[in-house]
Amino acid sequence: NDSVPASDVDVLIIGAGPAGLMMALWMARLGIKARIVDKRTAKVFSGQADGFQSRTLEILDSFGIGERVWKEANHMIEVCIWNPDSNGQIRRDSRIEDVLPGLSRFTQVVLHQGRMEQFFLDAIRDSYPASKNETRPSSSPIRVERCTIPTSLVLDEDAVDSDDTYPITVKLRHLSEEEATPARKLSNLSDGMFRSNLAGDDTDDILRASTNAGRREEVVKCKYVVGCDGAHSWTRKALGPEFETVGEMTDFIWGVLDIVPITDFPDIRNRSIIHSASSGSLMVIPRENKLVRLYIQLNEVSANGGRVDRSKITPEMILKAAQKILSPYKIEYHYCDWWTAYQIGQRVGPHFSKADRIFLAGDAVHTHSPKAGQGMNTSMQDAYNLGWKIGLVCKKILSRKILTTYEYERQMVAKQLIAFDHKFSRLFSGRPKRDILDETGVSMEEFANAFRMSHLFTTAIGINYQPSLLVAKPPGNDFDEGMPAVELRASTDVSRAQSTVSLALNCRPGTRFPSHQVLSQADARPWQLHHKMPSDGRFRIVIFAGDIADAEQRRRVNELGAWLGSDLLPRYPTMALSVGSDPHGATMKFPTDNQPSIIDVLLVHSAPRQEIELLKDLHSTYHPFDSKLGWEYDKVFVDGPSYHEGDGQAYKKYGVDPQHGAVVLVRPDGYVGLVTYVGSEGWKELEQWFAAVLRPL
Ligand code: FAD
Repeated sequence: NDSVPASDVDVLIIGAGPAGLMMALWMARLGIKARIVDKRTAKVFSGQADGFQSRTLEILDSFGIGERVWKEANHMIEVCIWNPDSNGQIRRDSRIEDVLPGLSRFTQVVLHQGRMEQFFLDAIRDSYPASKNETRPSSSPIRVERCTIPTSLVLDEDAVDSDDTYPITVKLRHLSEEEATPARKLSNLSDGMFRSNLAGDDTDDILRASTNAGRREEVVKCKYVVGCDGAHSWTRKALGPEFETVGEMTDFIWGVLDIVPITDFPDIRNRSIIHSASSGSLMVIPRENKLVRLYIQLNEVSANGGRVDRSKITPEMILKAAQKILSPYKIEYHYCDWWTAYQIGQRVGPHFSKADRIFLAGDAVHTHSPKAGQGMNTSMQDAYNLGWKIGLVCKKILSRKILTTYEYERQMVAKQLIAFDHKFSRLFSGRPKRDILDETGVSMEEFANAFRMSHLFTTAIGINYQPSLLVAKPPGNDFDEGMPAVELRASTDVSRAQSTVSLALNCRPGTRFPSHQVLSQADARPWQLHHKMPSDGRFRIVIFAGDIADAEQRRRVNELGAWLGSDLLPRYPTMALSVGSDPHGATMKFPTDNQPSIIDVLLVHSAPRQEIELLKDLHSTYHPFDSKLGWEYDKVFVDGPSYHEGDGQAYKKYGVDPQHGAVVLVRPDGYVGLVTYVGSEGWKELEQWFAAVLRPL
């Protein structure tokens, strides 16, 4: 139809939930021409996901949103486990920490999904210059286009290999508010059933109802499309049956109530897991603003292999189930913020992308039970893994073949999630064992043990990507104890660079680079090293320079600096930083000599700070000069005692020898790609690693 308007875009994101918004934020930070559409009229306002895991908070912090979540959220520090005693009455069995100390500087916190979506929208907006006087180049700002639904998606497979083509054609339809509002949603604002997996999807109904409405349609030609459109994903269905997720549903039905409780249950402000003798299980999640979320097993409605009668499920019946489990304690409420119910099941997609042009992320490609608080976190982390890759490919900085690492890395995590959830949700929903002869019951020791072992996975700190072009390490299982075991796929393309993992024992290739306190060489201020590694799309070479008070070691470090500055860095492009990710962005409006390199160099030494003169002792690669801004003072750090905030002991915690140091290459998403020597034997490894990943100038 010639009258349908047409346009083009580098990246089209379908769905503005946690995965879509994370994707849009990357696109905004990298200055990519992108659009994000959502069929709904507005973002989520209450209910849905609420748990933020340690790694998610680290990621949000790298975009400058972490502090907002941390400040507003309720912090979960302790878990209480309640089990039936010999008389069948519930009693507190144990109190343990919610997250193992030392895993991350963030513990688990809870805040409802809608609030976090708002933070994303703000961060996307703040990625663009506030005024026209800003000198920075920028694409037009991304904003969520609501009431917009795709109606067709076609991939021209002959055009997928070229950088300059737009091989995907998507037709979008713009809906009226009424068409975009789910029928159920109109009846009751706190009713979340319309988004539950017990309710059907309304996409087909919306499309049917809007066909003849004469609504505006448009055609968009895209280089890349990312389907972030949730469990009923239209994008996934449009890709064909071979993309359908596979897995199973259980008969267990759980209800969710977000209430301000009136109760004498003593652990209502702790995360509590309660197994009753015969009335099912319940989990208490204390939330912000006096709210508490209860996850309640509904024994009275079971799928029994068939469909569930949804009309039976009401907040009143969910509360009754909670009262039975918590008895003899009492629980009532006056205020209910939100409620829903869902059926427990686990499904994962066989493919996460088609021709590395159309991608699926988040619930669109894996679903599981919500109780372990993983869905939103994993969804955001899928998009976090994919966003910089697509963005840098669009900028012609990253080699297109790197896009295959998305499925390779994230499918492994999705499978681990499914394996974890399968085990955990059965342990959670199962009836407690009565005695050792009781073969169908769940042993509470087994449950507590599984819970403790799960921390590395549930915080996502234990994620360990396997060898690829982006992760130089020998093949083989190097997962930590407690990480769910899944069958690993061999990567077709692996880096020719070789890591020497013994040089930095706690910076293992494939895992996230941890953060520890270091001091600025220039002004003695303590910093978390992560604060010097924002999500701005750049690779980082972290040089643990060792004892540079020693002349021989200093010579080695300066030779490395000279080689980086005159040889490696000039081979690759530079990249303008967006306002939001430039640490000087808010205050510095001066034009500079050069744009920063796509490879950022940070140095952390272990010599006494007073013995080192930044400008005199270190090569200029470590403090580059700009005729308008002067020397750079923000790239050299030292491991040592601070005046006011203790000693970070960074070398010890990173597992690096304080004499000879190490070089750690960190990807733009904070995962370690390579560990090698400071001396010239390490240069070849760096060279090989980058040669396979970046496109030279
Ligand atoms: P969604 O959040 O489902 O977002 C998809 C978006 O796409 C929506 O905005 C939708 O309107 C839009 N969309 C759908 N179809 C179309 C279309 N055809 N066209 C345009 N737009 C479309 N996870 C946690 O991590 N922690 C928790 O504590 C937690 N608790 C939960 C509690 C409950 C009761 C439930 C139900 C889920 C919970 N989850 C939790 C899971 C979490 O909500 C999801 O995993 C997460 O929202 C998935 O994010 P997503 O962006 O992939 O998809």
